[in-house]
Amino acid sequence: MNKHERTKLILKIAGIAMAVCGLALAITGFADMIASTGRGSTPKLFFLMMIGLPLFAVGMMFCLTGFRREISRYMKNESVPVVNEAGKEITPAISAIAGAAKSADATICPHCGKTNSDGAKFCRHCGNKLTVTCPACGAEVSAGDFCENCGAKLK
Ligand SMILES: [Zn+2]
Ligand SMILES: [Zn+2]
Repeated sequence: MNKHERTKLILKIAGIAMAVCGLALAITGFADMIASTGRGSTPKLFFLMMIGLPLFAVGMMFCLTGFRREISRYMKNESVPVVNEAGKEITPAISAIAGAAKSADATICPHCGKTNSDGAKFCRHCGNKLTVTCPACGAEVSAGDFCENCGAKLK
């Protein structure tokens, strides 16, 4: 377990502990307030709620920070199928619009001179490779004067 993982584990445990304690304090304070109101006396444990609620909030914040990766993974799992499904229907439309909007920055095929969508790896008109291997960093980058990855001169 590396340091980052340990910090997150501490955050999770401390967060849960604080949230549970805070909630317990808040409930105790709240219950006392209700009971006191019923009796017509001044609530003595009201301050517990004042401590409990912020403690609960901080605890939840710790939890959220500690579980951020799990949460984001969960959210991703939840949203990806929906996006994919919608994407199947709207992708052609979007790429047509994006293609028109981005035509100024579209990838021009060095073989046939026709335009391709930004980031395309192969020409959709002639099938030739649109990327070049950077001699400096070895990355596959779109053909141009400079490497998109490291800035080295390509020609
Ligand atoms: Zn081409
Ligand atoms: Zn490079």
